[in-house]
Amino acid sequence: MELTYARDFWPLRHKYDTPELPEMKGNRMGFYEKLGLCPIINASETYTKLGGSLMAPETLEAMKEAAEGFIDLDRLLDKVCEKAALLTKNDGAFVTSGASAGVILSTGACMILESMAARNDFAEDILLEAFPEREAFPKNEVLVFDGDFRNSVPYWKLIALTGAKIVSVSPDAEGIRKAVSEKTAAFVLFPAPLYEKGILSCEEAVPLLRQMGVRTIVDASAQLPPVSNLWYYTRELGADVVIFSGGKHLRGPQSTGLIAGKKDITDLCRKLASPNERLGRGFKTGKEELAGFLTALELFVKTPDPERYERQKKLLALIAGILEEKTKGLLTIEWLDRGRLGTYQPLLHIYLPEGRNAKECLAYTRKRKPAVDIGVYTPEFHMPPNLIFLNAYNLKDENEARLTAEAVAGYLER
Ligand SMILES: *Cc1c(COP(=O)(O)O)cnc(C)c1O
Repeated sequence: MELTYARDFWPLRHKYDTPELPEMKGNRMGFYEKLGLCPIINASETYTKLGGSLMAPETLEAMKEAAEGFIDLDRLLDKVCEKAALLTKNDGAFVTSGASAGVILSTGACMILESMAARNDFAEDILLEAFPEREAFPKNEVLVFDGDFRNSVPYWKLIALTGAKIVSVSPDAEGIRKAVSEKTAAFVLFPAPLYEKGILSCEEAVPLLRQMGVRTIVDASAQLPPVSNLWYYTRELGADVVIFSGGKHLRGPQSTGLIAGKKDITDLCRKLASPNERLGRGFKTGKEELAGFLTALELFVKTPDPERYERQKKLLALIAGILEEKTKGLLTIEWLDRGRLGTYQPLLHIYLPEGRNAKECLAYTRKRKPAVDIGVYTPEFHMPPNLIFLNAYNLKDENEARLTAEAVAGYLER
């Protein structure tokens, strides 16, 4: 498969990330500065490659407190997972080291459950130890939709770590009917339709798969807010489990992720995961991350969606105002009331004038001091090349909004 996204797009974000030591004007050197790294203002997305998101002071405080003493890790995991299930209105939850780990563990759990359902001589304690031995599982095929979106969402490949055979499915109802077999363990759904037209949505695929008795895992890693998405996919759509990144919109530690849904699956994920020496031993969540994750989740659920929305809208309005004034009708600015991936957040679309393009603009803003990361659509979206998007989720304050506007205006002044 042609990896246009990985090869063509991400290097752009890295290429300009080797700046000379920043000028220090008598300020204290920060950790990043001491390493010779320029911090970046994030006006694009909760990209992991930029650091995801920023934790709230309460979250940092909880991590610090957790770091100051020993604890029975199993008991801590029990408590954190119990609370995460309650907060997300799901029967079960498991906190792991990221959404990717969540996809791998929940796939493994489905392979165990389905294999035991198919063959009553297969015991859980044997299967728990059997990964990644494909032939140990009578149900060892995991279904994933095919499409260009897989360049942007390459996490599907990681399913192979369980030993499962990944079966690519034509992204329509007929494709599903053809692909489901006596070996199917689960169907993993990624947010494909948000990247590419013509692919069955979760709303269409989950009910169909349920009818056919196929277990469904929804990777909704970046599908927040609204808060209600924490239970929408499982309770309303009927997916077996849903997965979220802790380090994106939840603003938890970067190395956390949540699996929520059916308790038989989340319980098995727990058994497969660290501290047990099994499939998930490499995806360790420490006491600090568990404390940080739970605190971040509590804060996220407690904050009303409109409050988050209004905060972002104000910052984007400030950017739009500065840009309009500085560029005097040169730009077309469009307000969207949904995020790039359908999330509940405002978004600015800015169409650059003739002869200018989004990638070049990003290259410029990333080279500036301070560096600013602006949004550029990946090829799958089929957007015009002069379109940039600005997202205020990760902007700290008005000053960062101002610097973002100045960076974009600076590109046009060249
Ligand atoms: C970001 C993302 C992931 C990876 O999340 P981590 O928490 O960094 O492991 C997986 N799936 C999708 C759809 C994502 O957007």
